[in-house]
Amino acid sequence: MKAIRRFTVRTVLPESIAPLSRLAKNLRWSWHRPTEQLFADLNPQAWEAVHGDPVKLLGSLTREEIQQIADDPETVRRIEELDADLECYLTDELWYQQTQPADAPASIAYFSAEYGITSVLPQYSGGLGILAGDHLKSASDLGVPVVGVGLFYQHGYFKQSLSRDAWQQETYPVLDPDGLPLTLLREEDGTPARVTLPLPNGRSLSAHIWRADVGRVPLLLLDSDIPDNDDHARSITNRLYGGGGDHRLQQELLLGMGGVRALRVFRRLTGAPEPEVYHCNEGHAGFAGIERVSELMEPRGDAEPMTWEEALTAVRCGTVFTTHTPVPAGIDRFERAQIEHFFQAGLAPSVPTANILALGAEDYDGGDPGKFNMAVMGLRLAQRANGVAKLHGVVSRQMFQGLWPGFDNDEVPIGSITNGVHVTSWIDPRMAELVLDPHGTDLDRAARWRHVYSVEDTELWAVRRELRKRLVQDVRTRLRASWKARGAADAELGWTDSVLDPDVLTIGFARRVPTYKRLTLMLRDPQRLKKILLNPERPVQLVVAGKSHPADEQGKRMIQDLVRFTDNPEVRHRIVFLPNYDIAMARTLFPGCDVWLNNPLRPLEACGTSGMKAALNGGLNLSVLDGWWDEMYDGQNGWAIPTADEGAHPDERDDIEAAALYELIENHVAPRFYGEAAEGSEPGTDGVPHQWLAMVRHTLATLGPRVSAKRMVDDYVRELYVPAARSQRRAAADGFAVARAESRWVGRVRQAWPEVSVEHVDAEGVEQEPQIGDELRVHAYVTLGSLTPEDVRAEIGYGRVSETDHIHERRYALLAPNGDLGGGRHRFSGSVTIDRSGPFGYTVRVVPQHPHIADKAELGLVVNA
Ligand SMILES: *Cc1c(COP(=O)(O)O)cnc(C)c1O
Repeated sequence: MKAIRRFTVRTVLPESIAPLSRLAKNLRWSWHRPTEQLFADLNPQAWEAVHGDPVKLLGSLTREEIQQIADDPETVRRIEELDADLECYLTDELWYQQTQPADAPASIAYFSAEYGITSVLPQYSGGLGILAGDHLKSASDLGVPVVGVGLFYQHGYFKQSLSRDAWQQETYPVLDPDGLPLTLLREEDGTPARVTLPLPNGRSLSAHIWRADVGRVPLLLLDSDIPDNDDHARSITNRLYGGGGDHRLQQELLLGMGGVRALRVFRRLTGAPEPEVYHCNEGHAGFAGIERVSELMEPRGDAEPMTWEEALTAVRCGTVFTTHTPVPAGIDRFERAQIEHFFQAGLAPSVPTANILALGAEDYDGGDPGKFNMAVMGLRLAQRANGVAKLHGVVSRQMFQGLWPGFDNDEVPIGSITNGVHVTSWIDPRMAELVLDPHGTDLDRAARWRHVYSVEDTELWAVRRELRKRLVQDVRTRLRASWKARGAADAELGWTDSVLDPDVLTIGFARRVPTYKRLTLMLRDPQRLKKILLNPERPVQLVVAGKSHPADEQGKRMIQDLVRFTDNPEVRHRIVFLPNYDIAMARTLFPGCDVWLNNPLRPLEACGTSGMKAALNGGLNLSVLDGWWDEMYDGQNGWAIPTADEGAHPDERDDIEAAALYELIENHVAPRFYGEAAEGSEPGTDGVPHQWLAMVRHTLATLGPRVSAKRMVDDYVRELYVPAARSQRRAAADGFAVARAESRWVGRVRQAWPEVSVEHVDAEGVEQEPQIGDELRVHAYVTLGSLTPEDVRAEIGYGRVSETDHIHERRYALLAPNGDLGGGRHRFSGSVTIDRSGPFGYTVRVVPQHPHIADKAELGLVVNA
């Protein structure tokens, strides 16, 4: 029988245990072990049945069971203590309050299309979502006043299983928000709060707002599955990255524009402070900027409404944009006509649609004039932008160079902040207890990790083995379940009980399965892989997992190839594929692996975070020098898989890199794991691989603090949030007087720029045989037209020159105005001291200058001599 309607009955808790409700709803339990343990202890069988979900646990208990809990003084005391602890956590002065300047932002809005916080709230597909979750958790731990904004997807992302012939199957279980750790935002009269966007043809898209509490950080999730909407509008938030085209565009309109509106409702209902910084995690939420511009352009009281330029200037000041993909195909693009169609419905009535179109236009070499590019809009709406690892910064500067013509790649104003992972969520509690100094604080995070140097090898090895063993058990359970789902009977599955071995070197590989991550590189030479797995002295076992995007046939084929290899009875005890990679699996998988393998096509992995999670647990990385590993590999914390020339044929590249991978495993990784001493030292006799553990200890001590998301959030606060808040406040003061003046200046400079030229450059001081210490004096004769010398910065760019006269390791020295020659012509002079021998070259250029621009290249204007 099928129900015609459903609802979730709320549990009413007796007074003495009422705080359980808050402890269950606030997601801090997911990284606060004592709270998680409390729920597990309330009723261990029920806890297992609900897969470790506190809200579901409370909902599943009978009135008698609840009464029993309420009658147990010991449990009541624990609940009170944990509730008091949560109260402190939510209200204490933390790192942000203790260390940040008084003008640090009072609120930061963080937008992301997905959030991976805990397995009980499956609203993520992969790395981007997990990163967003880790960002919120770390912000909470540090006291950074972030508010998250996202969408609530009724089906989340798909669940993966396999068919008998190893083809990926997708299912989309329905999530009932009433049974999740969410609270509906309500108006004072109890009706659900709501935001509404107009759509073409007189339709509209409304959404309710669910609030999740991620420790101190509220997360607002917009849900379009409500009765006010027609069927089509109801389905807009049905799936994460479900549809393409208009469906996807409407998701992004709701996330960006609806998200800003939801923040306004949230402030009205809770009195929360207004965000001073808006951070867009990837381009999906870019329309948030349009909503804010639109608000500023609307007539307000007796103030003069702002022009497009003024509003854009004001909005840019407080906006931070993070780009996450070096793969152009990974960027969201829409047809210009689609954007026009939707905006003509009145989404932003005071903003001319042509201006919106211009923001996302690919009007640079190689761009497509018919497309609207969300990353391009993101960059144009943000005064500050970053990639997610140093190398990714370099790649992003190249990729978006067309937006700043005339500047060299390294001057493109996109910086980088390397991703991190939330330590308490990803370190196994046993490892944390062993290696982290319990008295450490957030004021010196590195000191906590140095504690590992005082841990004995035998202890460290014992914990590593325990974690490996736990993984082996989990793999056996999951593998059996997977085979049953593939149609096997229990009687055929006895072998799964002895799959993997808790004493064998364990290599993990798990991630989404886009082509560039090369899931099947390890299969390049199947015989060689087999030999490695089955090596009698030094066997290796591999645990593999990953979901392919439902529309990606090639990804599914790679999974099929891999699973078919693992199905072979000769090797199936040494290599497994586990379906449905998710947070729950990851929390056992990372700690259990000795080595974490990553072999993307360099440089297509923006950062990658799974290797970081392995490192936190003493796993060693074996990876192509891409993403984070490119900057953190130091020769002693793991291995670098050499890469073939980027220009090589893809097949050739795969051959070369796979061969290098096999060689490393056979000759370096496995011997070290099995205790062969490094050259020149004595082999151990106690069965403990001391050389291996030296690498483990070094990894924990040095990578631990660097891969922590607290380091990342700390970087965001200091490098981006605080400066953005300062710019934004300055721009907004006195009814946006500064923004208005600045935009007038920008308009004037843009208009006059074609008149600017460097006519002539004179130099003295290096006439004959220049040598180190000589001073090069330069005079530049510059036409500024209607601009003044204060509007510009003239500078000498100098350094080593190549044979093609390109200046490398370039530095700049300022040229000072030194004479008005009349008719808009000016002389600028300055000097540099030559401090190195060899080929030397210099040039002169002029860029706009204004106290409020954050970067010389910001306006994309430059005149080179
Ligand atoms: C960490 C993690 C990811 C992201 O891994 P990458 O290395 O960044 O690709 C994806 N899914 C889950 C479940 C994770 O825990």
